[in-house]
Amino acid sequence: MKVTVKAYAKINLMIDILSTLPNGYHDLFMIMQSVGIYDRVTVSRTDSKDIEITCTKAGVPTDEKNIVHKAAMKFFADTGTENTGIAIHIEKNIPQAAGLAGGSADGAAALVALNELFGTGLSQKEMAQIGGKIGADVPFCIMGGTMAAQYTGTVLSFLPDLEINNIVIVKPKQDVSTGEAYAAFDSAERVRHLDTRGMLMAAATGDEKGVFDRVDNVFEQFIDVPDRVVIKSIMRKHGCECCCMSGSGPSVFGIFEKREDAERCLAELKKSYEEAYLCSSVSKGCEVE
Ligand code: ATP
Repeated sequence: MKVTVKAYAKINLMIDILSTLPNGYHDLFMIMQSVGIYDRVTVSRTDSKDIEITCTKAGVPTDEKNIVHKAAMKFFADTGTENTGIAIHIEKNIPQAAGLAGGSADGAAALVALNELFGTGLSQKEMAQIGGKIGADVPFCIMGGTMAAQYTGTVLSFLPDLEINNIVIVKPKQDVSTGEAYAAFDSAERVRHLDTRGMLMAAATGDEKGVFDRVDNVFEQFIDVPDRVVIKSIMRKHGCECCCMSGSGPSVFGIFEKREDAERCLAELKKSYEEAYLCSSVSKGCEVE
């Protein structure tokens, strides 16, 4: 018996860092949006008493460093279920280390699949609570849609789901270390904080234009991604309504009103960037196939 779950990527329509917490973590304000780029996580039972991991993409760890391994260990510990043996296969489509929560989405999908496979009957909220012990973005990846995420990202509030049809996402080659991104915030002399209240009001009332007008990412003030400037100028040339970096980068997304503009923008970006996509928002984080 096996269960396959789609694990959707996310973009941050807003991310601001409100403060550094005494434990070194950061107090965040984020508006999260699930998007239609997804990995497929298949969990099947074996009789090995082990957790075996395989992935279609070289470079993704297949040992205990993989977030799906952590998810499985936490699942068995927190539900008191005996691990008689499982195999987890990840079909990787979400760009890695991109600010799109690819790993967190896989962790969330593994929890959802295990809950199905072992008939543990956990609610979404219970899975999200286990997910929070694995990674700050995992609870959102279980819930999905459009949500406000606060504190380290684990405190979630429901928002009306935005329906955004034409989202272009590009992952430039440049790597950004999330740790270095937060360190850059910590040592910054000045931070221009974002209109978080206005964003929350716009999102809460389903005011799409109000949301698009406020799309912003505080990390853009500290992280230098030369390609970001180039990508944004291409997106603006093709008439995007807004464009922004996602998470701590380096991925950049642009939202377009017209499909033709998004398609033209994608075609131009594809000439220079291997990892460029056109997708829509989705109203869930995980989906059992
Ligand atoms: P976030 O937006 O949450 O910061 P990200 O998109 O920037 O995440 P991930 O794709 O989650 O980054 O990967 C970050 C690192 O985590 C990778 O370099 C990889 O070594 C490790 N990793 C562990 N499990 C996975 C997984 N299932 N898929 C991808 N990377 C994983």
